[in-house]
Amino acid sequence: MQQPQYNILLVEDDPGHAELISRAFESQPHCALIKTDTLDQARNVLNEDHTDLIITDIRLPDGDGTELLRHRTLDLPCPTIIMTSFGDESIAVNAMKSGAADYIVKSQESLFSLPKTANRILREWRLLLDKKLAQDKQRRLTAILEATPDLICIADLDGFLTYLNDAGRKLLGIGANEDITRMRLADFHSTRDGQIILYEGIPAAIKDGIWKAESTFVSRDGEKILTSQVLISHQSSSGEIEFFSTVARDIRHLRAAEEQVEYLAYYDTLTGLPNRNELVKRLEMEIGRVNRHGNQGALLFIDLDNFKYINDSLGHPVGDLVLQEIAKRLPSFLRGDDTVARLGGDEFIIILSDLSTDTIEAVNQAREVTDKIRNAIAMEIKLGEINLQVTASIGISMFAAGVTSGDDLLKFADTAMYQAKKEGRNRLEFFSESMGEHVYRQLELETQLRQALKEEQFVLYYQPIVDQRESIIGAEALIRWQSPEKGLVSPLEFLDVLESSGQILQVGPWVIESALKQLSTWINKGLWNEGQRLSINISPRQFRDSQFVESIKHFLNKVNVPPSYLHIEVTEHNVIHNLEEASSKMNDLIDTGVNFSLDDFGTGYSSLRNLKTLPVNCIKIDKSFIDDICESSEDQAMVGSILAMSGHLNLSVVAEGVETQEQLAILKKYNCQCFQGYLFSKPLASDEMEEFLKNSLSKKR
Ligand code: C2E
Ligand code: CA
Ligand code: CA
Repeated sequence: MQQPQYNILLVEDDPGHAELISRAFESQPHCALIKTDTLDQARNVLNEDHTDLIITDIRLPDGDGTELLRHRTLDLPCPTIIMTSFGDESIAVNAMKSGAADYIVKSQESLFSLPKTANRILREWRLLLDKKLAQDKQRRLTAILEATPDLICIADLDGFLTYLNDAGRKLLGIGANEDITRMRLADFHSTRDGQIILYEGIPAAIKDGIWKAESTFVSRDGEKILTSQVLISHQSSSGEIEFFSTVARDIRHLRAAEEQVEYLAYYDTLTGLPNRNELVKRLEMEIGRVNRHGNQGALLFIDLDNFKYINDSLGHPVGDLVLQEIAKRLPSFLRGDDTVARLGGDEFIIILSDLSTDTIEAVNQAREVTDKIRNAIAMEIKLGEINLQVTASIGISMFAAGVTSGDDLLKFADTAMYQAKKEGRNRLEFFSESMGEHVYRQLELETQLRQALKEEQFVLYYQPIVDQRESIIGAEALIRWQSPEKGLVSPLEFLDVLESSGQILQVGPWVIESALKQLSTWINKGLWNEGQRLSINISPRQFRDSQFVESIKHFLNKVNVPPSYLHIEVTEHNVIHNLEEASSKMNDLIDTGVNFSLDDFGTGYSSLRNLKTLPVNCIKIDKSFIDDICESSEDQAMVGSILAMSGHLNLSVVAEGVETQEQLAILKKYNCQCFQGYLFSKPLASDEMEEFLKNSLSKKR
């Protein structure tokens, strides 16, 4: 076994004694003897080398050996054996009092047994030293625990605290001198985390030695402290768990910083809106949603017009304020699931989600929102003394199930936005290629029709309805679109679009008002008399509109035409879905004197039976039956039975689309009373119709 090496300083001026001692220590290999014969030399050695034991004669040529008692080793008095000559015992006793470890009275014997004494003292010295080192270590560790900013505590097996450091006390609001032995750490956790510690943390620490988690402490004054916590179980040498310790670090600042970093990564600091990163994320989600549910979406690429001028002429701070103001306005026009993001500069992106599954309808929804957004952007911005107005060019890319790339959508919308800029700014443009030819045509038509209404390009034609003697018993008002580019356009080409876009709700009332005004003019001119009627067509959407009944009454009043002059034509499609409601609307108007005709009769699914419940007093046999009436016995039979049945029900019948004398002859044979068709007249412009009315009057006379 490797013995510890001890340095022993021998201070002895008597060479004979010194020699004896040296010899005695020869049998002690763990002791290195350094011999000196003066105090001075001894001091030098003590200064230079580590010394574990001093053996010194008391009388030395240059002084008193007890002086060496002052020397310290490892911060403790260095053990010293004093040697005296016979008769000097009293001096030795004094030396013991001043701290000498032992003394011997020099004799051959005592000198020779010095190693024994030395070993005993060295052993004691060793023990003392170990104890001191352990104490030092303990003191330092405690100092560390107390100085560390993390909560550190020790708990017994029942969870009661035995130690809690200064930082822990401060964090939890426990006084420096407060007794903690009746407290448990779990009591300072949120209820949920306390449970987790008890049922998960402690068992895990017992099993694996250590358990880590993020947990929330609640201080005495109720403050919640998010920490990163470590729970450790400590075992005795026999393997039993003796106690637990916990280190918990307050990570609130860290979390806040993380959130800030997260925020900066995904949000625009100027406006607080999602930035490009967040946009890309949400767009992906939206694409997923569209593919799952089929509801379409729209991506709006908004670019402010001439924003550069604001920046250049008024400065960037003003530009920033404008962007902030616009960012504030945009969300109020959107629904919860929609997204507004700032792409950078003066570019904003909006994702409209959950639009209709029907493309046309979805496009119209997108257009409606986009119009609102354009108006919102165009609203004046007041910045102190300055009033600004900003407009935007907006490109729209629609997306439906099957779409995969958000990047493409952004590109498409961007392209459309550039188109809008090119077309003169302050407008919106759809990205057409992504929509399909059909939809695009329809949208184009819609835009043109909007313009047509604004610029009064719609006109009414009138087609006479005649009786068996070919006298005019009325006329049907038929709409036309006088387009500057396309010429006179048939309603068959645009009615569907008016209907699906809802524009019919503006065009329909225009028809009613214009027709009634025209009628009033003819009445005033004496060209129209009481037995004659003017038929007006009403579309399904118009008929369903809650304002329908009121608007008819309103126009009749306004134009001052007797209600009995008016025939409203509805088709089966108008009424079949809800016969009761339709009847009640019709009855409401019938009570004022208005008449109803069932248009296109025979083409729908309604049977004659329906007629009994519907308050109509005229039916119009669809042109398709008249077309083949000469060749098809089936059609003839059908027309025959319609006429017979309506005779019983006391309904008048108009045969539509009569083009030939043959058709007329057959219809007359079945006792049809009223006719409409090219055979008598095509639909006529109002001035032509006026001529027609005059001519027929003069014929009569
Ligand atoms: P409709 O109510 O069945 O009107 C009769 C249609 O047949 C008219 O077509 C008329 O020009 C056409 N027609 C009449 N006689 C003949 C004929 O002998 N031969 C041929 N080939 N055609 C004849 P138009 O004016 O193109 O109107 C088509 C449809 O558009 C109308 O069918 C009506 O359902 C609808 N419509 C027209 N004007 C309006 C309107 O102001 N409002 C609404 N809601 N619908 C309208
Ligand atoms: Ca009609
Ligand atoms: Ca018809």
